Amino acid sequence: MKHDIAIVGAGPAGLLLAGLLGQGGLRVLIVDKRAGPLTHSQAIGITPPSLEILARLGLDAEFVRLGVPIRDCHVHGRSGYLGCASFREIPGAHRCILSLPQQVTLSLLESKIAAMPNVELHRGIEVTRIGQDAEGVTLSGEGFSSTARWLAGCDGHRSRVRELIQMRCKGASYGCHFLMGDFTDRTTLGDEAHLWFTHEGAVESFPLPGGRRRWIVQTAQAALETERGFISGIVRERTGLDLPAGDQHNQSPFSPRWMQAGQYHDGRVILCGDAAHLMSPIGGQGMNTGWADAEFLAGALLAIEQRGQPAPPLLEAYDHCRRRAANAAIRRAALGMWLGTRTGRAQSWLRDVFLRELVLKGPLSRRVGPHFAMLTIPCGTLAQVPEKDRARLTPAA
Ligand SMILES: Cc1cc2nc3c(=O)[nH]c(=O)nc-3n(C[C@H](O)[C@H](O)[C@H](O)COP(=O)(O)OP(=O)(O)OC[C@H]3O[C@@H](n4cnc5c(N)ncnc54)[C@H](O)[C@@H]3O)c2cc1C
Repeated sequence: MKHDIAIVGAGPAGLLLAGLLGQGGLRVLIVDKRAGPLTHSQAIGITPPSLEILARLGLDAEFVRLGVPIRDCHVHGRSGYLGCASFREIPGAHRCILSLPQQVTLSLLESKIAAMPNVELHRGIEVTRIGQDAEGVTLSGEGFSSTARWLAGCDGHRSRVRELIQMRCKGASYGCHFLMGDFTDRTTLGDEAHLWFTHEGAVESFPLPGGRRRWIVQTAQAALETERGFISGIVRERTGLDLPAGDQHNQSPFSPRWMQAGQYHDGRVILCGDAAHLMSPIGGQGMNTGWADAEFLAGALLAIEQRGQPAPPLLEAYDHCRRRAANAAIRRAALGMWLGTRTGRAQSWLRDVFLRELVLKGPLSRRVGPHFAMLTIPCGTLAQVPEKDRARLTPAA
C-alpha cells in the first residue's frame, strides 16, 4: 500500500485528521476536489474542547492570537434585554468561544501539514470510485488512482464516500431559512455576541477578526436572490441597529438540515465530520464535532497501525462514542432552532419568559456557558471517553 491512510476531503475534519496522523508518523494522503482556497467563511465559532484538540498540534496559541475571544453572549427578546450567557466562569484554560473565519482555520491547518514530509496533500482531485478488500482500499478519480490501508471520508455532508459505500442515513430539514453576511463593524458591540429573538424572526451577530462582524437573519423563505441592503433592512426592523449596506462584504443563504449516518465505518472505510453527521450551523457545533471525531479516529488508527491493536473494537468504540456525541449535538441544535425561530407575538412572549426567568437568570443559568461551549457533550474529547475505550487508544505511560 502506498499510504497508511487516504483522506478524502481537506476541510476542517480532514486536515485535522491528517495533521494528527502525520504527527504520529503515519503515511497520509489527503485529496480535495477544490483547487483553490475557500471563497466564503462558514464556521467561525471554535469551542474550548476544540482548542484543546488543536493544542495537540501546537496550534492553539496561533488560533487564539488570530481569533476574537467571545466571552459574553447577550440575548434580547420581544420584551427587551433578557440576559447574558457568559463563558467567563466556565472550567478550563479557555474561557471563551473563539471567532475565526473558516478560511483562516483551514490555512493554519494546511500550513501545519505542509511541514510534515509523510503527509501528501493534492488539490483538484475528485474521488469518484473506491474499492476495498481485506488488505486495503483503492481510491480513484479522473487521471488519479492510489491505494492505502484505510480510507477516511471527510468529504462533507454531501459525501461521495458515504454514497459509494451505500451507507444509509436519516435526516430532515428544520424548515427554517437564514441569510448570513459579514459587515465592516461600526457598532459598539465590541467582542460580544448578540442574539435577538423577535416575533418576526431571529437575528444573530458575532464579532470577527479584522474589524468585521457577522450578521445572520432568519427569513420567511430561502433568500436565494435579494436586493442590496436586505440584511441591513431586517436588522434595522428587528434590532433598531443601522448597518450601512455598503459595509457588507458577502452574503450566503442557508436552510439547515440534520443528518446522521447509520454507521460511521464499513470495513476499511470510515466516515468523519459532516460526512458522518450534520446539524444546524445555528449553535456553531458542526466543525467542533468533526474535530472531536478526527481526534478519536486518529487515536484509533495510530493504535491499530503502530501498536498492533485489533481494529474491530476500536472502530466500534469510534462509532459508539462519536455517534453519542453527534446525537447530543443534533438534539441541542434542534432544540435551539425550535426555540429561537418561533415567530408570532404569543410564542415570543412565552419564549421571553422562559429564557429570562429559567435559562439566563434562573436555575439553569450556571449551565448555559458550559452548554454552549460544548463542555457537556458526552465523549466531547478523547479525555472524556470512557476509560475502557481510552486505554486502548492511548499509548501505555
Ligand atoms: C453558514 C455556516 C456557518 C457555520 N458555522 C459554524 C460554527 O460557527 N462552528 C462550527 O463548529 N460549525 C459551523 N458550521 C459547520 C461547519 O462549517 C461544518 O461542520 C464543517 O465545515 C464540516 O467540516 P468537514 O471537514 O467535515 O466538511 P467540509 O468542510 O464540507 O469539507 C469537505 C471537503 O471535502 C471536499 N470534497 C467533497 N467531495 C469530494 C470528493 N468526492 N473528492 C475530493 N474532495 C471532496 C470538499 O471540497 C471540501 O473541501 C457552519 C456551517 C455553515 C454552512
